[in-house]
Amino acid sequence: MKKFVRPEIVDMKGYVPGEQPRAGEAVKLNTNENPYRASERVYDAIRKTAEEGLSCYPNPLGQAVREEVARKFAVSPDMVLCGNGSDDLLTILTRTFVGSGELLRLPSPSYVLYRSLAEIQGACCDQIAFHTDWTLPNTFFSDPRSSGGGDEPSNRLRLVFLPNPNSPSGTVVPKERILEMAEALPCPLVMDEAYADFAEENCIDLIEQCDKIIVTRTLSKSYALAGLRFGFLVAAPKFIEQMLKVKDSYNCDSLSLAAAAAALSDEEWRRENRQKILATREKLTERMRGLGFSVPDSQANFTWNTRQDMPVQPIYEYLKEHGFLVRYMNYPGWGDGLRISVGTDEQTDRCVDLIGEYLEVRAKTAS
Ligand SMILES: *Cc1c(COP(=O)(O)O)cnc(C)c1O
Repeated sequence: MKKFVRPEIVDMKGYVPGEQPRAGEAVKLNTNENPYRASERVYDAIRKTAEEGLSCYPNPLGQAVREEVARKFAVSPDMVLCGNGSDDLLTILTRTFVGSGELLRLPSPSYVLYRSLAEIQGACCDQIAFHTDWTLPNTFFSDPRSSGGGDEPSNRLRLVFLPNPNSPSGTVVPKERILEMAEALPCPLVMDEAYADFAEENCIDLIEQCDKIIVTRTLSKSYALAGLRFGFLVAAPKFIEQMLKVKDSYNCDSLSLAAAAAALSDEEWRRENRQKILATREKLTERMRGLGFSVPDSQANFTWNTRQDMPVQPIYEYLKEHGFLVRYMNYPGWGDGLRISVGTDEQTDRCVDLIGEYLEVRAKTAS
């Protein structure tokens, strides 16, 4: 049957999301969900919208949410595009900018989905490795054609993805560097800001200075709404105009549009949630360092934990046996580590306790 399927699809592995056990079966610290309940305004908005009825199509642009985002970030509504989660926006971006055989650049290690999007599009991937201190090499913003390449499609760099803060490291590339990069690049630079609400700064105001910068956001992490599926993107109106032709006509449903407007309007909820997550993140970082892990300073709602002296996959297994899921990741040529999402204080403490127990047992059996 494979002969009926496009070869690009047959050849690709496909993105594998983190495990989703059934409710109550494990403490999930593996997909960077928010451990707290979303703003009550969200639940009220969903109930109200459902009561009013769902027989009509939603506004195709999500105009009310566009206006809410525009107010919040001091941009104009025609600079905002709504998406069914930010993964939907990343798909729209790839389809809008990158043609078959052309080049899409991404850093590595980073979000694995970008690669799958390029593969579906039949595009080529230019993976550029971070330095070991999680800074980016200058090649990240070079034009393949000006460094000696010809004009064949595989030298046509059409789009660059950069998650900031990055996953799995939680580290950030500073704003000045991003502006410098965007100006040098021959194509748009997509800043995937899925975790920016947990960071010190973000790039939305850079769009005014350099209109090649596009910023994507999601409600999945910092608004505790991963189950809802809503994200938005901010970009120059000339890009939004083109992307509107590519998106599904009704890519966001009435319930998620109502919920998103409500969530975005509750700035107090977001600020308080952020404070809680940041406080727990600092404790998690210190305790893991105390146990001998290398942990870069994170500006996201997770930490990246590695060590030289032992494999970490058995720690992942041990946690799983005890009802705690974290994300084990192994990047070819880079090594492996555990990405641990920030849960409640209680969940996070218990997870680190278990890791401590594992290390003690291991030390005893070795001596
Ligand atoms: C979680 C995540 C997303 C996806 O967000 P959704 O809105 O849930 O699709 C996008 N980019 C990065 C880097 C993420 O970690």
